[in-house]
Amino acid sequence: MIYGDFMEDRIELVDYISVERLQELQNSFSDLAQCGAAISDRDGSAITQSSGMCDFCKYIRVSRLGSERCRECDSNGAEQAFRIGKPVSYTCHAGLVDFVAPIVIDNQRVGCFSGGQVRLGEPDEEKVRRVAQDIGVNPEMALHLARRTPLLTEKQLQNAMAFIHNVTLSISDMAYKQYQIEAAKDSIEYASQLKEDLMANMSHEIRTPMNGVIGLADLALNEQNPDEVKRYLKLIKKSGRLLLTLVNDIMDLSDVESGSMDINEEEYLIKNILDEVISAVEEDAKAKNIELITNVTGNVPKALIGDSIRIGQVILNLVKNGVKFTDAGNVSVNIENISEETDTVQLKVTVKDTGIGISQENQQKIFQSFRQIDSKRNRQAEGIGIGLAIAKHLVEMMDGTIGVESTVGEGSKFFFTITQKKVGTDAEEEYPFTAPNAKILVVDDNNVNLKVAAGVLSTMGVKADTALSGALAVEMCGRTKYDIVFMDYMMPEMDGMETTQNIRLLYPEYEQIPIVALTANIADGTKDLLISAGLNEYATKPVVAKKMAQVLRRWLPKEKIIRSEIQEETISNAPHITIEGLDTKTAIEMLGTEEFYLDVLKNYLGLIDKKASMIREFVENEKWSEYTIQLHALKSSSKQIGAMELGDMAAELERAGNESDIEYIKANTEAALDKYLSLKTILAPLFVIKDEGNKTRMGIDELKNCLSELSIALDNLDMEGMNNCMDLINAHSHSDNICELITKLDDAIEMLDVDTAVEIVAEIENVL
Ligand code: ADP
Repeated sequence: MIYGDFMEDRIELVDYISVERLQELQNSFSDLAQCGAAISDRDGSAITQSSGMCDFCKYIRVSRLGSERCRECDSNGAEQAFRIGKPVSYTCHAGLVDFVAPIVIDNQRVGCFSGGQVRLGEPDEEKVRRVAQDIGVNPEMALHLARRTPLLTEKQLQNAMAFIHNVTLSISDMAYKQYQIEAAKDSIEYASQLKEDLMANMSHEIRTPMNGVIGLADLALNEQNPDEVKRYLKLIKKSGRLLLTLVNDIMDLSDVESGSMDINEEEYLIKNILDEVISAVEEDAKAKNIELITNVTGNVPKALIGDSIRIGQVILNLVKNGVKFTDAGNVSVNIENISEETDTVQLKVTVKDTGIGISQENQQKIFQSFRQIDSKRNRQAEGIGIGLAIAKHLVEMMDGTIGVESTVGEGSKFFFTITQKKVGTDAEEEYPFTAPNAKILVVDDNNVNLKVAAGVLSTMGVKADTALSGALAVEMCGRTKYDIVFMDYMMPEMDGMETTQNIRLLYPEYEQIPIVALTANIADGTKDLLISAGLNEYATKPVVAKKMAQVLRRWLPKEKIIRSEIQEETISNAPHITIEGLDTKTAIEMLGTEEFYLDVLKNYLGLIDKKASMIREFVENEKWSEYTIQLHALKSSSKQIGAMELGDMAAELERAGNESDIEYIKANTEAALDKYLSLKTILAPLFVIKDEGNKTRMGIDELKNCLSELSIALDNLDMEGMNNCMDLINAHSHSDNICELITKLDDAIEMLDVDTAVEIVAEIENVL
């Protein structure tokens, strides 16, 4: 229960059934069964006054020793009944028969109902006398009284026991119902208290940014100076983000509360989690001049299997709090491996700050929801006090534990432990295969990405279809039943999620067909969004051959997977080319083969001039959204070929584009372009231009045929058709008067500028 424990752990019988009621029940029983009876609590202490006690027993208890022995018998009997959970009968020290039944509430043994002090035959005179002598009472008197104790037949005893059994069951039932009612009542009271707290917190936390939005919007509307307007819009955006975080937190809390939040396991890199956390808090930390430190000890495996999104969420929460509650110094994240089994490692993540600290007393409270420890000290800090409650819940869902150590004025140290699987232990078997009969569709609005994905798949013997838009993908799925669809997440017009939903909606046969998201962005919540939109899993961009192979092995129908006989040459052992400034090893690993890498590289090289001048033009004409799209593409394509530094520069510029940080763009674009253009000098020598002289001249009719085929392919946005035609045209030489047009046509098709391509085809046809 995330709302803290509102019920006491130890259940007391008398809290749920009154002593009077118990006494009445017990009295009726002893009247009816003509025997003694008593009800005691779990420790054997009497709850009721015993009833129907026979004179013999009273006499025995006159002696202190006798009374002690009776108590001992009672408690042994109770213990036995508790142990087996059913009524038991036994003979007491004085030779009488007793029976006892346990009372149980919610699996807790809370007391006993005992009865008896009866005999089944004539008293054993010898024994009665001996007992009386032992405990110091008159033996003759004892014998006299023993003869007057109730005499039951075996049958009567069984009946009495059955009765007592039923009575205790009824008592247990009654008490349990009452217990449930009170638990519900407590939880309702607790919930209403929480609601009050939440409302108080929320009205502040939501109203502040809301008022901000409205006030700033007013200011913006009345402002003439565009720079000022922009500044207001930025502030509005910030408030909007804050509100979104709040809403997301509340949704998360309601998900964990209702148990609908799942832990999804898959391979991830620790470094990526930390990178994302740091980039999310960097700005705030910088503004407060707080240093952010991360450290992963050497024995932590780089890749693990677990729910990286949830782990990232917990760490982010702790780091955010660290930054929030620290005015000077640093916030550090340390990840260490504290124990290791064959298949798993236990990680300890510690987030330490040099902030205001938390008192001992408050350390108990902060993991409960809506608990902020002191509204005064929190006034400066945003939040409604559910972050740590969610973090605790998430950690516990991953079978881990979370805790805090802190000294007021010195800082706090939050830590949690989780056990993660090692990669390659439980991970699926990785065998080489080809899948020539697989039907795969790759959907992406970026032509280069499509080519790369299709190329990576071709290294697995898969010939993939491609679609350049969501709408086209929906259409193609109507025509062909694919085995797997790889779906770009961010596309204009119809995005990956919408496309997926439409496919599933329109074609029932696609209900079971895996649709795998391709996404460059696995930030908070993205994955949940994808999964809830019906996507089956995701692969990150830039595309990684290993991951694609894994997806195929996992989702393709078994009969379409043909295991390769020969072990594939493992990439790491294969010699690979080195290119100055490029991480070719990683790039080749991503793309699967060196040959294909060179292909992609060539493509990349061919586009440098054009793309660079486009980017420049967008900056000059201040077309920021076009600029951002180009930088996004430059980021992925550069990382894909191993130009990591340029990829990072582009990523920063893309971020600046998204945040309309024009100043940053203007200050940094040229440096990135210099780097981009410098790749030309490095890459060009790798690709010797084929001697045009070796090509055969294409006949006019052949060219005309080719162009009309190309026109059809352009009409249908059939990428493969376009490329085939273009390949054929490029494989030949042409008369001088059309050479330039053909180069332009090639460029237009490369850029997927269909309109221009259609125009050029018409122009060439005119010339012919
Ligand atoms: P929120 O930050 O949204 O208020 P949390 O559940 O994350 O909610 O934290 C609960 C409370 O615990 C915070 O309001 C704050 O008072 C306290 N707290 C959390 N982290 C720290 C920290 N690193 N240093 C000092 N106080 C903290």
